[in-house]
Amino acid sequence: MKRIVSVLLILFLLLGCTVETVSSAVDFACDTVVTIRAYTDQRTVDDAMRLIRDYERVLSKTVQGSDVWNLNHANGEPVTVDPETAQLLQLCQEIGERSEGAFDVTIAPLSALWDFTAEQPSLPDAKRLSEAATAVDWRNISIDGNTVTLRNGAQIDLGGIAKGYIADRVAAFLKDRGVRCACINMGGNVVVFGGKPDGSAWTIGIRDPQGTAEQSEEILSLKDGAVVTSGNYERFFELDGVRYHHILDPKTGMPVDNGVASVTIEADCSALADALSTACFVLGPEASKSIVTHYDVRAIFLMTDDTRVELP
Ligand code: ADP
Ligand code: MG
Repeated sequence: MKRIVSVLLILFLLLGCTVETVSSAVDFACDTVVTIRAYTDQRTVDDAMRLIRDYERVLSKTVQGSDVWNLNHANGEPVTVDPETAQLLQLCQEIGERSEGAFDVTIAPLSALWDFTAEQPSLPDAKRLSEAATAVDWRNISIDGNTVTLRNGAQIDLGGIAKGYIADRVAAFLKDRGVRCACINMGGNVVVFGGKPDGSAWTIGIRDPQGTAEQSEEILSLKDGAVVTSGNYERFFELDGVRYHHILDPKTGMPVDNGVASVTIEADCSALADALSTACFVLGPEASKSIVTHYDVRAIFLMTDDTRVELP
């Protein structure tokens, strides 16, 4: 009897030592709903959420005093930015070049002319759009260490990459704190690591572009990595039966209308996946082949005619 009790006690202690709990937090940040689930204590998850807001204060174009705000209000003068901002802008330039300008982080003068959430949305003036388009060129960003200069009236908008970048940083933060597994979801920008606590893969749904937010067209299983979707249903309005959504052709400033409804990118790095989801949306399946191969990612295109294209 004594032996049984001591064996049970040892078992109990062993289990007690390894039992961690899943903690989670939900908040509205970076203009979207953020969910963090991690196999750790609540404090660590709350710290991770705070980290997101710290990054938002640096990368948002609307927060006064952020790096992006400072750059956009510097009238072409050099601005000293956070080393991480400089690095992120470098990645933006690289993807700008690789996508032949389909992803262009200097889209700000164009995106500023659209208000997709207005109560009575309207189309921007065509002349203003074509004028604004002349300032859009990622080559107008000069980076020298932590000093960034925007030339020729360029302004930046990190909306196509910031959430992906921040999700990567949150995953790194959690790993640094010794967390074994987690799932970070920033409005469809998902990063997972370590699988679920029971060892199985995380499941990530790709939304049916014709359905509601809850309807998945397909489900991906992943233990480690990032899955990011850009869709024509995220931010849009409809006027006279035409849908105007927030992914813009940098050359015209008009919403991309090429038969793509959504692009999902699966990659190791979520900043890359985020930027590529936007780039591939603009490029369409055929023209995306070389960039998908170059970065060694997987791309799933759901088209407006209900067909599906997967690359590579
Ligand atoms: P979401 O913000 O819904 O995750 P995306 O990652 O596709 O979707 O990013 C869209 C945002 O990126 C827009 O709201 C705008 O700020 C910016 N953007 C729009 N078109 C482009 C483009 N061609 N290149 C870079 N950024 C873009
Ligand atoms: Mg994107």
